[in-house]
Formats: sequence, structure tokens, C-alpha cells
Amino acid sequence: MLNTRDNNHSQPLTSLRVAGFTESVIREMTRLAKQHDALNLAQGFPDWNPPEVMMEAACKAIHDGVNQYAITWGSPTLRGAIAEKYRWYQQMSVDAETMVTVTCGATEAMISSLMAIIDPGDEVVVFEPFYENYGPDAILSGATPHYVTLHEPDWHFDFDQLAAAFNNHTKAIIINTPNNPTGKVFTREELMLITGLCQKWGVVAVTDEIYEHILYDGREHLSIATLPGMSEQTITINAASKTYSATGWRVGWAIAAPHLTNGIRKVHDFLTVGAAAPLQEGVTAALALPLEYYAGLAASYQDKRNFMLKVLGDTGFKCFKPFGAYYIMTDFSAFGFPDDTSFSRHLVADIGIAAVPGTSFYRDAELGKQRIRFAYAKQLPTLETAATRFSRLQRT
Ligand code: GLN
Repeated sequence: MLNTRDNNHSQPLTSLRVAGFTESVIREMTRLAKQHDALNLAQGFPDWNPPEVMMEAACKAIHDGVNQYAITWGSPTLRGAIAEKYRWYQQMSVDAETMVTVTCGATEAMISSLMAIIDPGDEVVVFEPFYENYGPDAILSGATPHYVTLHEPDWHFDFDQLAAAFNNHTKAIIINTPNNPTGKVFTREELMLITGLCQKWGVVAVTDEIYEHILYDGREHLSIATLPGMSEQTITINAASKTYSATGWRVGWAIAAPHLTNGIRKVHDFLTVGAAAPLQEGVTAALALPLEYYAGLAASYQDKRNFMLKVLGDTGFKCFKPFGAYYIMTDFSAFGFPDDTSFSRHLVADIGIAAVPGTSFYRDAELGKQRIRFAYAKQLPTLETAATRFSRLQRT
């Protein structure tokens, strides 16, 4: 294509903004997994279907004529169901009319939220390691990310380091609990410390709680929005993707006080117009599932976690035990590879297992160079096949 801007053909036609980040490594690993016919323990998605009631309700909605735009910020039935679920599950008071924006997955909820609150020059505090989208999200919204390390082996943060990350330019802090990729579940004490800093500096907590129901060993999920004073300055993000095993449906939501929701809805409307209307009806049905559904989900993930901790440990990985979400962060130094890229290429091409190189979760590449993340949202027979393949991996 001709460069019509000027005659300088060396000048890229893409923006400096997109030059500021690379393609998603997680999605790249999924493509490599397909290419090598490897088991995809890279991108976190289940290999089973959503609950039957959810699929039936979506199919029925299509046949009943729910095929045109829903209200841009979400169908009233879905917003009502979301508010009701927060009421009984989190004891959170959510007004469906003024506090809920239904989005195309949690991914869109995050970028719409940041674009709604960030001005150029604003800073966003991000814990490291982080889910890889948060870096580009900050750049796309015009914010400067300020990273605070979660320290191994238990992924705690140092309060003085966190406090030092806040200043007059800080607009938001991104929290992800239960956490991807570490499996950390933020405690009440930790969220209270974050609350104190948010209130001192007038900062918005943007909290991605997509793994809220995937918890192990009695850990409990706490939404920072429920802590004193935080309901006015928190955006709580979630989605149907992980809780109802429907990552491809792209139905998520952002919950926030009306003054924040107004901004989020404007961005969301112009970015996407709205999430798929019939799928919103499917998710409405899923939100009515009883408490036992969630208990069953967590119990089945705990079995998978325990199985994979054993397999990975026996193979020679040092595992950081997760207490929530469905990933295991590991240290692969026993295998003698110079870096995470060469090791993950060996795994996908020669062993038949795709995983995510650790550096994609770190700004400081050194920290992730001997780390790799495995996702275990897979049926037990798939994980058993993974175990057989891992037995071919040699320690040095
Ligand atoms: N959250 C999932 C992961 O970390 C999937 C990410 C994605 O590709 N949207 O693997």
C-alpha cells in the first residue's frame, strides 16, 4: 500500500501508541499450540461447556428474536441478575439502573474503565507480575504504569514500596484478586492497606475479580468495594468467562458508583455499542444458579490444582502454590535453559505442551526469565495426557 502521508516510506503508518507494546504472548502461544498440535496449557480457558441452562437460554433467546442490539450498557434482565447476585453473594448493594455496565468481557471492562478515568500524565499502580493486558491497557488509556513487586514465594507486597508508588499524579490502582498469574488471594489486611492509600490520594481501585469463585484451601474472596469508604471509588470488574466456563462468549461487566458508571458507559458505547444480546440472556440464566454450583466449581478446580502441583513437582519444576484462579507459576531452573522463550519453545515443539513464558508477566525481564505459567482449566484426562508428555522432559 502506498504511504499517502508523505514520501518517506520508512515512516510507519501505525501509531506510537501501538508501537509501545507487543502482541499478546498468551494468544501467540495458543497459535503455536495449534501449529504443533500441543496441549494448550498457555491461554487460560476450560475444555468443557458452560452450564446447560446457560446454553439453552442463549439458544432460546436467538429463536425468540433477541438478535438486535441490546441497550448499550446491558439488557435490563442481565443487569438485574448481576445486581441480585452481588446482593446475596457479596452483600454488595448494586443499583442495576445506575451502577452496572455490561461489556464485551472483562477485557473490555478494564480498558473502558481506564479510558473513563485517565487523563494524559496520570499514573496507574500495577502489581508485578501482572496479567499481561494491564500494561497495554495503561498505554492505550494514556497512563504511565507504576509497577510494585509482589515478592516470591508468597507474593506479598512491601507496604513502603506500595506507599512510595502513590503521588499526586496517581489516578488508579489495578488489583486482580484472585490473582493471575500467581494464584495469590489478597487478604483483608492487604486490601485495608490499599484502601488507606486510595483514600489518602483520591485514587480509584480498579479491581479485576474474574476468578472470585475459584478459591482453594478455605481462602475467601473479598471485594475492595465493600471496605469502608471504597464504594464511591472502586470499579469492580467481572465476567461470565471463568465462573461459567464461557471465555468465548465475551460477556463481562463493570460495577461502579453512578458518577463513575456514567463515564464507563460513554466509552463502552462508542467502543463496542454492546455485548452480544442473546448471550446476555444466557448469562442471566447462569447468574440464577445456586450456591452449590460455585462450591462444585471450586472443588473441581482444587482437584486439578493438586494433580498438577504433583505432576509439575515430580517433573522438576519448583511450583508456587496457588490459592485461587487456575494457573501455576513455576521456576524451571532445574532444566538448564537460558531463558523462558527457549524453554517454552522446547516445551511446545518437542514435548507437546504450550505454556506462557514468565517474562510476559513482568516489566523487569530478569524477574521472569526462569519462570513459566501453566493453566490447568482442563479435564482430568487432558491433564493426564500432559503428565505423560512431561515425563519426556529431562532435568540437567
Ligand atoms: N485470562 C486468560 C489467561 O491469562 C486468557 C487471556 C486471554 O487471552 N484473554 O490466559
